[in-house]
Amino acid sequence: MAKKTVADIDVAGKRVLMRVDFNVPVKNGKVTDDTRIVEAVPTIKNITDRGGRLVLMSHLGRPKGERTPEYSLKPAADVLSALLGKDVRFVDDCIGEKVEKAVTELKDGDVLVLENLRFYKQEEKNDEEFSKKLAKLGDVYVNDAFGTAHRNHASTYGAPMQMTGPKVIGFLIERELKYLDEAVNNPERPFIGIMGGAKVSDKIEAIDNLLTKVDKLLIGGRMAYTLMKAAGRRTGGSWVEEDKLDLARNLLKQAGDKLVLPPDNVCGKELEEGTPTTVCEGGIDDDWKGFDIGPKTIEQYTAEIKNAKTVIWNGPVGAFEIKPFDKGTMAIAHAIADATGKGATSVIGGGDSAAAVQEAGLKDKVTHVSTGGGASLEFMTGKPFDTLEILDRK
Ligand code: ADP
Ligand code: MG
Repeated sequence: MAKKTVADIDVAGKRVLMRVDFNVPVKNGKVTDDTRIVEAVPTIKNITDRGGRLVLMSHLGRPKGERTPEYSLKPAADVLSALLGKDVRFVDDCIGEKVEKAVTELKDGDVLVLENLRFYKQEEKNDEEFSKKLAKLGDVYVNDAFGTAHRNHASTYGAPMQMTGPKVIGFLIERELKYLDEAVNNPERPFIGIMGGAKVSDKIEAIDNLLTKVDKLLIGGRMAYTLMKAAGRRTGGSWVEEDKLDLARNLLKQAGDKLVLPPDNVCGKELEEGTPTTVCEGGIDDDWKGFDIGPKTIEQYTAEIKNAKTVIWNGPVGAFEIKPFDKGTMAIAHAIADATGKGATSVIGGGDSAAAVQEAGLKDKVTHVSTGGGASLEFMTGKPFDTLEILDRK
């Protein structure tokens, strides 16, 4: 169900209230990585070039409803001003008279950045009064913050629900939906999924849904040990979610041979650099803990990936932050880049998997790296996002 984008609506002279993701790292009042702001610029320019009066709202960090200076959006507003090469206004609140006055003073093409939404606990509670106060600030609503699109907050749900004008997505969300939706719901085959990361319990619904879509789901990461144990394999001292074993057994039964568990694992004594390592085949021997997929698994998984026409990856297959347990994850990243080079479509979702691809220097060699870790995982569960359902259709 394609959504209208900013390009589909008239914004000239209108107050455009837009939710962006300016949740950037800030140190000593300076933005240390401006990627998210840079990525928002095309949508911002599209609106200001056509004479929209743009009001930008975002969260930054976790101030938990407290006015916390270190989480101010002022540094982000300064970066945006430099990127646009023009004045960007900032107001140190996101609701109330002062804000309304600043919005009234906007001229066509002006940009105003509001202070951190999460200085109010009402934001994450999707509070109705707070939503109404936000809604007052715009004639038109735009959501271009994919990272929070799976959460019904005041700025993503309550406010647009209160607004009667056009409600659309920006170009960032449009791109996320295009790649994720095409990969998950209309894949060229073979379609290979790779799932890893910390916990099965985080990802069970995504696994369930992906199993109905993919040709094979290759499992790695710490979550593999819970599934291995459920499959009756030894897991030694590896981290296992004991209370999820029944769930894992059901999953295995339902998945059949679509779900692939690692035939071998690289194990260590403790998760630290310099720990002795060994390769365990089949199960994991007593006194050892699994920290990465093994060489046979790398061979098998990369062969599957290189043969694929569509690849979706969520979750590192090992504790890649600690060497040598990064080998499996790096091998997967390179195999996905190779497949992409040969014409496959590849989509990386998940914050840590995205970081791994970035670290491998392969960000430009895959089709799409999602900007929303939690949101992309949520997308993979197949459940529609309420925040997008309420926006206008094409
Ligand atoms: P994503 O953010 O990509 O969805 P997760 O947050 O689920 O991924 O998991 C990432 C974390 O899982 C990383 O910190 C990684 O070190 C850890 N991890 C993956 N495999 C293992 C393992 N075998 N042992 C310990 N930690 C692991
Ligand atoms: Mg993560």
